[in-house]
Amino acid sequence: MFKGILIEKDDAGYRAAIQTIDEANLPDGEVTVRVSHSTLNYKDGLAITGKGPVVRRFPMVPGIDLVGTVETSVHPDFAAGDQVLLNGWGVGEGHWGGLAQKARLKGDWLVPLPRQFSPQQAMAIGTAGYTAMLCILALERHGITPAHGEILVSGAAGGVGSVATAILAKLGYAVVAISGRSEEHDYIKRLGASEVRPRSEFASPGKPLAKERWAGAVDVVGSHTLANICASMKYRGVVTACGLAGGMDFPATVAPFILRGVTLAGIDSVMCPRADRLEAWRRLGADLDITKLDMISSEISLAEAIPAATKLINGEIRGRIIVDVNR
Ligand code: NDP
Repeated sequence: MFKGILIEKDDAGYRAAIQTIDEANLPDGEVTVRVSHSTLNYKDGLAITGKGPVVRRFPMVPGIDLVGTVETSVHPDFAAGDQVLLNGWGVGEGHWGGLAQKARLKGDWLVPLPRQFSPQQAMAIGTAGYTAMLCILALERHGITPAHGEILVSGAAGGVGSVATAILAKLGYAVVAISGRSEEHDYIKRLGASEVRPRSEFASPGKPLAKERWAGAVDVVGSHTLANICASMKYRGVVTACGLAGGMDFPATVAPFILRGVTLAGIDSVMCPRADRLEAWRRLGADLDITKLDMISSEISLAEAIPAATKLINGEIRGRIIVDVNR
């Protein structure tokens, strides 16, 4: 038996609670992992609160991230005792996830824990941080260097935004952050942003084209914010879009794309091929200042993850949350 959060949906409604679960109920998979830590991402917040249609099967153990030790494996790449981590692949949505003491997974989904990181540090990064790195890799792939100019990062006090700001600053980019929380402006500047702009400046409908300012952008917000970012990119600027914290819509015109050669690069972490994940984690090991992870993250227990999910969806959490599933 092991402890985990279980989401159920039936005539009694949609609910998440800590339960004692029989190991015989674990899904099929080649590798059984003794989970040490998981995290809370925006998607986990949606799953636990039921605020978004994330969970595709019930009952479900949420948790799109996990780190732990292999207990048993019939996969050639993994053996008992290996430390592994997992991000995405529909885990915590359609396959039981990391917010529990045990998980059973496909071996091809697992990444060896990079030696630079402790299990807690890997989860302080989690899907949010690995997605931030995917955004930065996309900026680089499209040729954006620090010499091209400022990079705009939205939702900067959140998980993706915090890690993106810290990495971009370490790589020498000038980062301008967008945040709706004035009380977090000092925090965002300590992560490395040179300037923080209020969320309200970007949140309302704007012109198809605005003054050219940004060389690149990491957007987690979507909707009018993404449209206004595209409208204010420099000629041949690159916008990486990974989130919908402000809305799923994209009320924009094609003007920035056809008149300024702006590139809109979509970023998906869930089905991202293994080679790209390994590269993202390698670069996280090289380009993220580990000392900043303490500033970015805080740790909670499994039981605390349920109320924290509501706070996350309400935009009240700073940075990243690590969940100690054994506490
Ligand atoms: P967080 O909740 O940690 O951060 C989101 C931040 O967005 C908040 O901290 C807040 O920052 C800002 N925000 C919240 N609500 C609004 C709003 N209504 N309008 C404008 N800004 C808002 O989430 P994550 O960083 O983990 O994820 C961010 C987004 O990226 C989510 O939509 C998530 O689903 C998506 N995502 C996508 C992935 C992918 O594979 N494509 C992977 C990971 C995340 P502030 O207070 O500073 O303004």
